[in-house]
Amino acid sequence: MRSRSTSSVKKTEAYDTSRSSHVRRKVDRPHRGGPHRLAPRNTDNSTYTRREDIVIPPLDKEGVRIVPLGGVEEVGRNMTVVETPDDLFVIDAGFQFMGEGDAPGIDYVLPNTTYLEERKSKIRALIITHGHLDHIGGIPYVLERMGNPRIYTRYLTSIMIKKRQEEFPHLPAVQIETVEPGDRIKIGNTHITTFPVTHSIPDSMGVKIETKYGNVILTGDLKLAHEDGVPVKEEEDKWTALGKEKNLMFIADSTNAEKAGFSIPESKVHETLEEIVKNTKGRLIIGTFASQFERIINIIRYAEKYNKKVITEGRSIRTNVEIAQKAEILKTKEGTIIHAQDIDNYPTHQIIVLATGAQGEPFAALMRIATKQHKFIRLNERDTVVLSSSVIPGNELSVQKLKDNLYRNGVRLMHYRASDVHSTGHGNSGELAWINNKVGARFFMPAYGYHSMLRCHAQAVMDTGFPKQNIVIPDNGSVIDIIEGNKLVVHKEKAPSSMMMVDGFSVGGVQDIVIRDRKALSQDGMFVIVATLNLRTGKLRKSPDLISRGFVYLRESQGLLQETRLLIKKTIEDATKNMNPVNFDMVKADVADTVAAFLFQKTNKHPIVIPVLLGL
Ligand SMILES: [Zn+2]
Repeated sequence: MRSRSTSSVKKTEAYDTSRSSHVRRKVDRPHRGGPHRLAPRNTDNSTYTRREDIVIPPLDKEGVRIVPLGGVEEVGRNMTVVETPDDLFVIDAGFQFMGEGDAPGIDYVLPNTTYLEERKSKIRALIITHGHLDHIGGIPYVLERMGNPRIYTRYLTSIMIKKRQEEFPHLPAVQIETVEPGDRIKIGNTHITTFPVTHSIPDSMGVKIETKYGNVILTGDLKLAHEDGVPVKEEEDKWTALGKEKNLMFIADSTNAEKAGFSIPESKVHETLEEIVKNTKGRLIIGTFASQFERIINIIRYAEKYNKKVITEGRSIRTNVEIAQKAEILKTKEGTIIHAQDIDNYPTHQIIVLATGAQGEPFAALMRIATKQHKFIRLNERDTVVLSSSVIPGNELSVQKLKDNLYRNGVRLMHYRASDVHSTGHGNSGELAWINNKVGARFFMPAYGYHSMLRCHAQAVMDTGFPKQNIVIPDNGSVIDIIEGNKLVVHKEKAPSSMMMVDGFSVGGVQDIVIRDRKALSQDGMFVIVATLNLRTGKLRKSPDLISRGFVYLRESQGLLQETRLLIKKTIEDATKNMNPVNFDMVKADVADTVAAFLFQKTNKHPIVIPVLLGL
């Protein structure tokens, strides 16, 4: 199969393609740009659309435009554009972690920035609502593409952005303007004001962008602080005040819109965790997300209150504790946080371990502890383990493995299902409807979530009497114009929204061939042929060497290998018979195709075939 032999990709078109079906597939494959080029792709079929083919109608001079570039068909890679005739603002630049099954070897997916690259000169600012990776994770990859605009955000978020930027020393320093809630700032010809929102990380904010026809308000991620379904006074005051203004468009978080009523308030979680910290007799191991910033801080505070020591395990938790200390959100006494190697120097009732990996991630701290791989921490039946996080859909199996491994150590295990040790940073539909009512904007766009979540959010808002025709449920890339403050237009042309992927340090569009190769490698393995050719006679000097990984067990497949060797010898020698000098590329392509077809016929597998020809 020539398509997968790296050496021969270029020659495809010139070559007879009738040999086998998988070869034909290759010919249908679209051309790709280089890894740095973003080829906008129509996601409905697999053909590339040239960038110049997509002509998005210009913005009416009496119009306000909203373009969600990411985050409205997934949880993650949040990025929303708000545009007036004068200025363009980008809100958030997140990424989304990728499941291994979808795209093996891909680390994360970014929003597609083509729309912004084409309007660089109009971009006035990147506004970041809070420090979670689905809002800041994309910055190192996309900021330059947007022309390095100034970033506006609150203090803690600014530290988190700078800290992440340290991992990319080749990039220019980011320009960050720290804003305080309530500040009204003029950027370009537009005024923006930020306001605080309740979320699981401090310094979370929403943003209000003033336009000629009223405010466009984006919430970022949020929930309500409340007591038994009654929002606390600060929430009441804040949202009421915002509702008194002329609000054109409200864009809000849908992540938990599928859940009814009000979410468990974080205060309840903190009470429960304090009880656990106080009452646990033996060592306490708490698994949570590093992104549960406030919870981590609170656990450390309770530890001090009850004279206990904290061991932080996992890089992301350690980093976030450092950031909290640097931002002076957390002040710890000398000696509260101790190193894991000192665990046995303290009585067991004094020990709290805060660990990453509550989702059962195989290499995270908690799994290493559970499977006895940790250098210093060994569990026993006097230990209590608390999993303080919900199970993210798709992680059920790995969480199950984690729990089984933990129980094998005889520990006592507490999970959020059994007690209130987890709440979420995102409001349920009851909270969302309450907020929407308060804001009372003319138009509403649910954002931040999968399509189903957006739908439920819209329904919850409609149930309170909000007119259906004033709600727009977007897709990634939807171009939504509000003309003269009253006419909602969703253009049929979409901004390019195909995924941009990050693979290590490089960013690219969806490179079908790379993904396909990785899938093939993971499913059917690889098959390497090393053949040494006598350049003078065109004959093989010896029987070819065969190496395979993840394909068939060679020792048990001697018959198949013998047949393959004969086939290789015949294919090469037939090809070189009247060739002088030998065209290596052509011979390699020929061998790869023939062997791939043969192996498929024999084994029903499509390993990646890589021929290596040596001429002596
Ligand atoms: Zn968040």
